[in-house]
Amino acid sequence: MSFTIPRTQKAAVVSTAGATLDTIKTDHPVKTQAELAPGECLVKLECTGVCHTDLHAALGDWPVAANTPLIGGHEGVGIIVAIGNNTGHCPVKLGDRIGIKWLADSCLNCEHCRKGREQNCPEAKLSGFTVDGTFAQYVVSYVNHVTPIPEGFDSNAAASILCAGVTTYRAIKYSNTAAGDWIVLPGAGGGLGHLAVQYARTCGLRVIAIDTGAAKKKLCLSLGAEAWIDFKESKNIVKEIKALTGGEGAHAAVITATSGAGYEQAVSYLRAGGTLMAVGLPGTATFDSSIFFTVFKSINIHGSYVGNRQDAVEALDIAARGDVKCHFELKELGDLESTYEGMQNGTVAGRVVLNMKD
Ligand code: NAD
Ligand code: ZN
Repeated sequence: MSFTIPRTQKAAVVSTAGATLDTIKTDHPVKTQAELAPGECLVKLECTGVCHTDLHAALGDWPVAANTPLIGGHEGVGIIVAIGNNTGHCPVKLGDRIGIKWLADSCLNCEHCRKGREQNCPEAKLSGFTVDGTFAQYVVSYVNHVTPIPEGFDSNAAASILCAGVTTYRAIKYSNTAAGDWIVLPGAGGGLGHLAVQYARTCGLRVIAIDTGAAKKKLCLSLGAEAWIDFKESKNIVKEIKALTGGEGAHAAVITATSGAGYEQAVSYLRAGGTLMAVGLPGTATFDSSIFFTVFKSINIHGSYVGNRQDAVEALDIAARGDVKCHFELKELGDLESTYEGMQNGTVAGRVVLNMKD
């Protein structure tokens, strides 16, 4: 099998974080097969999701900065069209349809990788942050970390499972919950949140969705949330959650809100033994919670950062069987800037996926 690889491509390039959003270039170089290092592969993209993380990276609003000039994007699906010479034990082959995650590569040999916490590897390469990502027609990726896309699973539907899906699937997996428990999802109407509603339902959890606006309310309730709280309208979120949960509070909260405010009351609305999974990444916010009640109620607080290769396989498998469906609008690479504006204004319910085929 061989593929014709062009020398140049269309790509959305961020020249300096914060200065401007992405500029679409049509003459960005594509690496040749001979230029790929062992372990690298060249992927021709079919589509890519747009995650709020890409917006944080472009704006430079995190305490750690992306490498610039930068091509963002980390929810890509495409075909392997070249593999670096002298790649040993290669788990993929030319023509395979694979997914690209935020965690593009890790060493697989350090303590973190050996314990299955590949995302904490000191040598981790991050798509669209430390290495070029998927807002381009071609991307260099890494044979040990690309994820096979199950046969028959539509690429556009699969794209956002690679970050939004994997991340929320893992956060729920480690949230110390069992079927019948209550879970609160602040940020439920966004890209991560609307998948969290569905992964929670596949675990038999009872979902309280928190977000704002009629479109997100409709989406969350249609996906199986049992209750909805509009954070801009509620006078007392803690009281509402306690009332819904028979006075005791929820068993867990997976917080995918992009603002610190989404974290603030969690320790108060969780029941004793409850678990707070921190997922949303406001750059500089901190959250205050009562030390006394954190101890007195035996509250667990966990940071949950994307997922490892196994989480990706599991999250995709559930979605490929139709139990979790990404609610997305398909757009073009030229729509990236307006998509970022929509995310900033809070008007994107679910996800935007960009078509990269043409
Ligand atoms: P998004 O913009 O699609 O969704 C965020 C949602 O949060 C929006 O619907 C918004 O209305 C809602 N929100 C804002 N303030 C809120 C509040 N006070 N209470 C409840 N809801 C509130 O963004 P996304 O792509 O879903 O990403 C969400 C966050 O998760 C981002 O900060 C992103 O960087 C982060 N993220 C983290 C990981 C991880 O590994 N932990 C992985 C991917 C993304
Ligand atoms: Zn992401």
